[in-house]
Amino acid sequence: MTTTGGVNKKNHVICRRCGRMTYNPDKGYCSHCGFGRTSKLRAYSWSYKLDRKW
Ligand SMILES: [Zn+2]
Repeated sequence: MTTTGGVNKKNHVICRRCGRMTYNPDKGYCSHCGFGRTSKLRAYSWSYKLDRKW
């Protein structure tokens, strides 16, 4: 029985939106761009600052 030392679990697959291996089918969303969790691109408050001039 091997419980450690193996990476057989596919925790991340290629995301359809950002193309990175960061889509988590278990959770149902991409940890990079947030695909599956939000319809918009994952955005932070600091990115809004870049977009909008406060
Ligand atoms: Zn993604």
